[in-house]
Amino acid sequence: MALNYIDQADLSGKVVIARFDFNVPLNKEDRSEITDTTRIDNALETINYILSNGAKKLILMSHLGRPQGERNMDFTLEPVATYLASKLGEDVILSESCTDRGIKTLLGLNESKVILLENLRFHAEETSNDRDFAKTLANYADIYVNDAFGAAHRKHASTYGINEFFKNKAYAGFLIKNELQALEKVVGNAQKPFVAIVGGAKVSDKIKIIEKLLRSVDSLLIGGAMAYPFLKAKGLNVGKSLCTDEDVSLAKRILNDKTSHKIMLPVDHITSKDFGGMPEPVNQEEIPEDFMGLDIGPRTRELYEAKIKEAKTVLWNGPMGLFENKDFAEGSFSIAKALAESNAFTLIGGGDSVSAVNQSGLASKMSHISTGGGASLEYIENGSLPGIQALKFGIN
Ligand code: AMP
Repeated sequence: MALNYIDQADLSGKVVIARFDFNVPLNKEDRSEITDTTRIDNALETINYILSNGAKKLILMSHLGRPQGERNMDFTLEPVATYLASKLGEDVILSESCTDRGIKTLLGLNESKVILLENLRFHAEETSNDRDFAKTLANYADIYVNDAFGAAHRKHASTYGINEFFKNKAYAGFLIKNELQALEKVVGNAQKPFVAIVGGAKVSDKIKIIEKLLRSVDSLLIGGAMAYPFLKAKGLNVGKSLCTDEDVSLAKRILNDKTSHKIMLPVDHITSKDFGGMPEPVNQEEIPEDFMGLDIGPRTRELYEAKIKEAKTVLWNGPMGLFENKDFAEGSFSIAKALAESNAFTLIGGGDSVSAVNQSGLASKMSHISTGGGASLEYIENGSLPGIQALKFGIN
């Protein structure tokens, strides 16, 4: 069964309830200030489409942060409501809560076309996928739209359970459409050579994705703190670099597999005596006792750039070093530059690699930058996501 998209829905005179990912970063000192509005901006296409295609009312839903099932005004969606109103040129009414009786009244009034429900995660029932909570949300509307790609790997009431109440009336928005089209170019039949670059801090978080990717890629380039457990598993000294015993045994498992010839590891490093101290190049695989690896070295960059140059499809997840500190950012920036110069389909799989690409100023040169790190990795791993499956088939 195919996924139904919002442009296939008859919206005229309908009340639409739509789930977005407005989980934006807020200024720590002044929590009314949104420091990066990308997630809201990404939702505007779907919101504008719904509003200009005859919907009577639009109810918006999102989570923000982790208020642990309690009403905590540090996590109010108020700043989101204000920003949305300015972008839409319409009033956006923020409800007291998702179960506020006033919502039904608002739906009966002629004014107030756009209603934003207060943070879904003020209710523990959201993350526990509570059926009654999902039903309460569903009872507000005729049509359900999910465009929260970043939350589509969650089985929550607003992303999953709610689908039960919208048989043949559940649609995906344009953001999900774009994300799935891009991911299919990597998951389906990626054009070869297919190169994946995996970095970041923890092997255990990404073990499954590495094992999955090794089946389909031609080369897997490993960088960041991810590299040291692999080097250690090969019997090399990694000094004081981040490296847990658990990660070393996972790395051993991967290196013992018949696909391990596809793996490339750093051959040199930028290190430091302390976390983020003076940078010291180390021109060999092994890292001396007192040093920790914090970035890939120049020879590694060259080898990785050469692999990227040959590729037709490139997936990148996780930075090549402690890129937040400019002394250790060159490895990540050189990967961003190689991707920007490549003619391959380049997909940045979310999370910190997106920040690295943004910092490099080369974001516009990438084919696709995913808005959901966890969701995109899970899609690559499993070929589907609970929130997307539920839109297709409903839930039993
Ligand atoms: P992840 O969330 O697993 O993608 O990890 C991203 C984080 O790993 C970023 O904050 C990086 O600064 C950090 N990181 C990457 N390489 C290293 C390294 N060699 N040593 C310490 N932290 C690193």
